[in-house]
Amino acid sequence: MMDIRANLRARLDAAVGGEHVLTDPAATASYVSDWRGRFHGQALAVVRPASTDQVAAVVRACAELGVPIVPQGGNTGQCGGATPDERGDAIVLSLARMNRVRAVDPANATLTAEAGVPLATVQTAAADAGLMFPLSLAAEGSCTIGGNLSTNAGGHAVLRFGNTRELVLGIEVVLADGRIWDGLRGLRKDNTGYDLKQLFIGAEGTLGIVTATVLRLFPAPRARATALAALSDVAGAVRLLFDLRQAMGDRITGFELMSAQSMALSRKHQPALPDPCPGSPWYALLQIDDNAVDSPVSAQLERALNVALESGIVQDATIAQSGEQARALWSLRENIAEAQRRDGPNIKHDISVPVSVIARFLDAAGPALASAFPGLRFVVFGHLGDGNLHYNLAAPEGVAPTTFLANTARANRIVYDLVAAHGGSISAEHGIGQQKRDELVRYKSAVEIDLMRAVKTALDPSGIFNPGKIFPPGP
Ligand SMILES: Cc1cc2nc3c(=O)[nH]c(=O)nc-3n(C[C@H](O)[C@H](O)[C@H](O)COP(=O)(O)OP(=O)(O)OC[C@H]3O[C@@H](n4cnc5c(N)ncnc54)[C@H](O)[C@@H]3O)c2cc1C
Repeated sequence: MMDIRANLRARLDAAVGGEHVLTDPAATASYVSDWRGRFHGQALAVVRPASTDQVAAVVRACAELGVPIVPQGGNTGQCGGATPDERGDAIVLSLARMNRVRAVDPANATLTAEAGVPLATVQTAAADAGLMFPLSLAAEGSCTIGGNLSTNAGGHAVLRFGNTRELVLGIEVVLADGRIWDGLRGLRKDNTGYDLKQLFIGAEGTLGIVTATVLRLFPAPRARATALAALSDVAGAVRLLFDLRQAMGDRITGFELMSAQSMALSRKHQPALPDPCPGSPWYALLQIDDNAVDSPVSAQLERALNVALESGIVQDATIAQSGEQARALWSLRENIAEAQRRDGPNIKHDISVPVSVIARFLDAAGPALASAFPGLRFVVFGHLGDGNLHYNLAAPEGVAPTTFLANTARANRIVYDLVAAHGGSISAEHGIGQQKRDELVRYKSAVEIDLMRAVKTALDPSGIFNPGKIFPPGP
């Protein structure tokens, strides 16, 4: 931890109370590195406000003293967006104490939450009102709704409900000059000029501090079917998605693709997980939800899978017979990221391409990488219904993972050039942070980068919010 200037310390103490300005290295250590231990930095202090007014007071102090601010929610982000840089001239602003669900309005089907509310708490509050908040991802116990907005998080239900961006009706933001914009409107129709909230969603803390939000809620599912289908190739998975859509309509809430290797890795680190339908190279985890009580979704899914079995699209399939079995199937999927972490660092790519070209992308990328890095192990899984793959590369057997990471730049070039050639995106849902800021400039057009910089300059003219994130550091 760097020395904190006395005048800054006094302003921060006055804003949030001295006990919430952390400077002791033992207390701040977990805030200045990311959860995977890939990004490390330093900070003058970690500041933990408990209200929007306190956030505004902190921002005013930092703006006046020229101190950069790195906002942080649950610190579960994948791109180092919440980690300060090595210079140590910034503060980390943790929103964790802003953890109140302010209101639930069942008739309007909305929920108002402060930025630091964990996603799982939002889900529970919605369920307590007989409704559902559909955003769902493996980090939901630790990530915060403010972080979800700031990264425009995706997760397992995008296929039906969209990204976080589509789940937000209102937002409250502290601006770079310390003013508070109260845009906490619970309106589904509001065509009064620019939709400013969308600028802050997905901005990764570079344009303002999100302090609260109004979220859309949905009817809770009353019937659910979960299945695992074994497939011989990814083209078959895409075909299965098309056929299931025809059969089940928009009741498909999850369509997750997993390679056999990624499932084996998941089981290696959690041996109690099941191994249904062994022996296929690819698997699709399917979830169907219906809001009607007693809807025969299981029977309908079974019929659709039988048709797929008969036509040879699916090699084998199992339908969960209980909530417990369904959870075990989902654990296979959700445990992959943690299993990778335990196995040692991977070269990770969170990419998207149109669903129709996923198989072609894989056919091009696999051989190109295998010839560049003999013995390379692929850990491929993702949200196939959204065209989103977590296309991760693990070290060949016998090569230390950290040694293998030296190949990151070369591997990235192969993957991202092919992504671009297939009309895709180098970041489907995790954002840019500090990890992909140089790639962004490479793959976005000059016009798009100019427009993004114009927005940044307009909203944060002195660049105090999260410098070095999204854009490379410097002017
Ligand atoms: C096991 C695991 C699984 C995951 N699965 C998914 C997945 O399926 N889909 C997905 O999209 N992501 C996934 N993630 C990534 C991560 O959980 C999401 O990006 C999440 O939205 C981050 O929330 P957070 O509160 O942890 O934000 P942080 O990591 O603290 O911050 C993320 C970014 O948002 C900014 N920020 C945070 N809070 C605020 C705020 N209030 N105002 C302004 N800026 C802010 C930070 O500065 C940073 O740039 C996963 C992560 C883990 C560990």
